[in-house]
Amino acid sequence: MRTDVSKINEKTRHQDLTEGLMMFAGGTSKEFNTGEWRTNTPVVEWDKCRQCLLCAPVCPDSSIPVKDSKRLDFDYDHCKGCGICAAVCPFNAITMKEGK
Ligand code: SF4
Ligand code: SF4
Repeated sequence: MRTDVSKINEKTRHQDLTEGLMMFAGGTSKEFNTGEWRTNTPVVEWDKCRQCLLCAPVCPDSSIPVKDSKRLDFDYDHCKGCGICAAVCPFNAITMKEGK
């Protein structure tokens, strides 16, 4: 049986836990607005963006959604403002702005 760690509470039976509390499912990060921590904010200039999609896979917070082979605007609920996407964009289409 899989352990859903978000549902462990005082009523959880030890028989229901996985060995070593190993996790076999996604965590709970999507349930939290981790973007609240952001001190710098990436902004895309759409006229410069060539949709090369190099920025999307390097985002450590999966905050650059891609649909139909095109990147969409940032998921600011979860983007923590690390600036990696701006650093990798070969067309300088992403600018980091101070603040949220
Ligand atoms: S600033 Fe960092 S967390 Fe935010 S979208 Fe870019 S790579 Fe992802
Ligand atoms: S890396 Fe730059 S040009 Fe490529 S999709 Fe991302 S923002 Fe657009």
